Amino acid sequence: MDIQPNNFIEDIIAKDLAEGANDGRLQTRFPPEPNGYLHIGHAKAVCMDFGAAEKFGGVCNLRFDDTNPTKEDVEYVDAIKEDINWLGFKWGNIYYASDYFQQLWDLAVKLIKDGKAYVDEQSAEEIARQKGTPTEKGEESPYRNRPVEENLRLFEKMNSGEVPDGAMVLRAKIDMASPNMHFRDPIMYRIITKHPHHRTGTKWKAYPMYDFAHGQSDYFEGVTHSICTLEFVVHRPLYDWFIDQFAEPGGYRPHQYEFNRLNITYTVMSKRKLLQLVQEGLVAGWDDPRMPTICGLRRRGYTPESIRNFIGKIGYTTYEATIDLSLLEAAAREDLKQRSTRVCAIFDPVKMVITNYPEGKTEKLTRENNPDDDNAGDREVDFSGSIFIERSDFMENAPKDFFRLTPGGREVRLKSAYIVQCTGCKKDENGNVVEVYCTYDPDSKSGTEGGSRKVKSTINWIDSGNCVEAEARLYDRLFSVEDPSASDQDFRELLNPESLQVTSFLVEPFVADARPMEHFQFLKQGYFAVDKDSTPGHPVFNRTVSLKEKKK
Ligand code: ATP
Ligand code: MG
Repeated sequence: MDIQPNNFIEDIIAKDLAEGANDGRLQTRFPPEPNGYLHIGHAKAVCMDFGAAEKFGGVCNLRFDDTNPTKEDVEYVDAIKEDINWLGFKWGNIYYASDYFQQLWDLAVKLIKDGKAYVDEQSAEEIARQKGTPTEKGEESPYRNRPVEENLRLFEKMNSGEVPDGAMVLRAKIDMASPNMHFRDPIMYRIITKHPHHRTGTKWKAYPMYDFAHGQSDYFEGVTHSICTLEFVVHRPLYDWFIDQFAEPGGYRPHQYEFNRLNITYTVMSKRKLLQLVQEGLVAGWDDPRMPTICGLRRRGYTPESIRNFIGKIGYTTYEATIDLSLLEAAAREDLKQRSTRVCAIFDPVKMVITNYPEGKTEKLTRENNPDDDNAGDREVDFSGSIFIERSDFMENAPKDFFRLTPGGREVRLKSAYIVQCTGCKKDENGNVVEVYCTYDPDSKSGTEGGSRKVKSTINWIDSGNCVEAEARLYDRLFSVEDPSASDQDFRELLNPESLQVTSFLVEPFVADARPMEHFQFLKQGYFAVDKDSTPGHPVFNRTVSLKEKKK
């Protein structure tokens, strides 16, 4: 079968495979740093790395780029695995950059011996000051030309625990005048003594920098297509340079390809900022349903399919752009439409009494579970002469163009039940409507011959004897501005104060027994999913997305 590439990177892969490059092997990897939870931006990389390997019969490994113990934790490792699984992808092996610490150390020693690396004892500020600018060359460190033996001795010392953090670094000796700033004697190793590593404990005190570890890790593993985002274009020559220092000339090399990062309006995607929101309690955790994290989206009611469809739609290019949040929401609606049971839920109830319905009678009516799914079937709902309707579906003094309930007004259909006509209402001493009265047409039952009679509007209702109270969490954009990162203001001051509204509502009892990840469409209210806080006595629902796009 002919496999069709879907983007420019898949084009490259298809061509390489056709030409028998890399002995016909395809090996990718997804390389997260375990310093936070995955977000929707990572999903874009996950879909590329795992998706391409799956499609073209290759393998994608999961590699944790765990080179900085100050920020990393097993909590993140576990969460990353769970999220990738949930998105529906399978890795070949799980690797850790920390598994290569010895190999990387040995390479660093080789570079020192070759006169291509040195221990610098200047402060980070001093080193930064000497770096120069893209148009002005940098200044050489006074330690740049120290003898090999001294470098070897000091490098050992960096890893002994005797040297405090920040007092020494190992730098590659490349070119302080290079137009590529990454070649101006980049730092290869730094000292971290205060934080044990999540896997290697306190064994190491000197840790490789990401830029030294990343390319070599790809090489050690045999990665053929090392796919990442555009900010790494300028790092690529450095990765290649490191590998050229020890690999056989003309032999196997990983090749790096870059695509555009995903940015979405009204949110932030930096792990540092997301961590701040969590740590400062500005959201309820990494899985707060307002967060752009995979676990947040999952809790909110997004499905893996909706996320993958969204990623498929936005595609991969080589120029930066920001995607409108409404596109992600549209993907959710499209997917949830197919799989959500339709339910009447009443958010602002007022009681309605059907005065000509036989006293004490109840009956079962049939309701279609999902008009968008032929296999979803029907269910029975209870009906009686006492029901709840939405307060906004009644108006005592209605204008001509109000087609719902008003005394002496038009006929209205109760959703999948009977046609009713409003006759009046009762008010309390403050003038608030407390009961609405109507009569029904017994021959107008939905599904019967009389039920085909057309009226201008249909309203939702729920039987007053068969409903439960539940909590709804209604979400809006997390930030009140389109690009919180572009502002001069601190991003935390740009949070949307109305991003979460909690309200109670009435719903059919069967919905209250639903489990997290079950999806419902509450008619006219939106798509909802059961929250993990839900208990039998207190059902809680997250609104995944409203039924229609929010106006700007
Ligand atoms: P940080 O925010 O700490 O710089 P990061 O967001 O780059 O980290 P990593 O854990 O290094 O996170 O990312 C793992 C992979 O996911 C990398 O290949 C990276 O390019 C990719 N990735 C991260 N953010 C995005 C994004 N917004 N869009 C697409 N890919 C992304
Ligand atoms: Mg990164």
